[in-house]
Amino acid sequence: MTKLYGVIGDPISHSLSALMQNRALSQAHLDAVYLPFHVASQELGAFIEAARRWPCHGFNVTIPHKQNIIPYLDEINEEASRIGAVNTVLNEDGRLRGTNTDAVGFLRSLREEACFDPKGRYAVILGAGGAAHAISYGLLEAGIERLTVFNRTASRANSLKNELMPYFPHRIDVKDWEADALRDVFHESQLLVNATSVGLNGSRFDELPLSELHSKCLVADLVYRPRQTPLLKSAASLGLQTLEGVGMLVFQGAASFEIWTGVTPDATAMRAILLDALDREIQSND
Ligand code: NDP
Repeated sequence: MTKLYGVIGDPISHSLSALMQNRALSQAHLDAVYLPFHVASQELGAFIEAARRWPCHGFNVTIPHKQNIIPYLDEINEEASRIGAVNTVLNEDGRLRGTNTDAVGFLRSLREEACFDPKGRYAVILGAGGAAHAISYGLLEAGIERLTVFNRTASRANSLKNELMPYFPHRIDVKDWEADALRDVFHESQLLVNATSVGLNGSRFDELPLSELHSKCLVADLVYRPRQTPLLKSAASLGLQTLEGVGMLVFQGAASFEIWTGVTPDATAMRAILLDALDREIQSND
């Protein structure tokens, strides 16, 4: 019987997951289909009960359900528990197991695409939402020596720090989003990651002292619409190495695929179809 996979979120129409997962399923010659499901917050419980009974073998979880889904699941692994969010659910005969592949996706992109090994390095993260939680955890777990978090709303940055501090004592700190503090840490940082939603559809930071960054600092953006965000363009114009968010998107999807099917997907084919779709979006907006 054809297996069913999917992604739940609200909104969901913009999601590119179905495109890349269906490409991976067909490349792997698996009799399966991956569908987007529009699930509003008040429908989450009903969807979960249906998913347990239907032959839905696994699904991705996106905004706004990544945290709220946790109480509905039968178990979550240590990674998802420490990140505090689930993006992948495996249905094993009605038992729902949650995990989070955002951190491994980002780390694989860092290592394979930017040849950056976090061990012993100093990183700065802008943002303290769900994506920032996942990559902060991933970087600390991968041995980053020091991590400084800046967020527009200081209380969220402090929550992120307080949640991860017990596992990684003395390696994570928070600073107020002010020009002087940004300048100070930019001098020392070897990795700057934008985990805010600034950059989406070409939006820009009001002021970011990029020229203070060390010439060897890698600038990564999780935003992938557009692929070349204003931040990445500015960093490249200063001669800095940059990393697009598409890699993380591909590799978190590849990790989910492997959890559901036990098969290593063709990440190159997944990336190709995504890039094609993103490039077409840009052309249609021009
Ligand atoms: P959340 O809504 O959880 O967090 C949004 C973050 O952006 C918060 O830290 C928020 O700050 C900050 N922010 C929003 N607007 C501004 C602004 N004008 N100035 C400064 N900070 C701002 O979203 P996620 O963490 O889930 O996602 C963040 C981005 O990461 C998304 O836009 C998405 O494109 C990208 N992403 C990419 C992935 C990939 O695979 N490449 C995977 C997941 C996400 P505050 O707390 O003050 O509101």
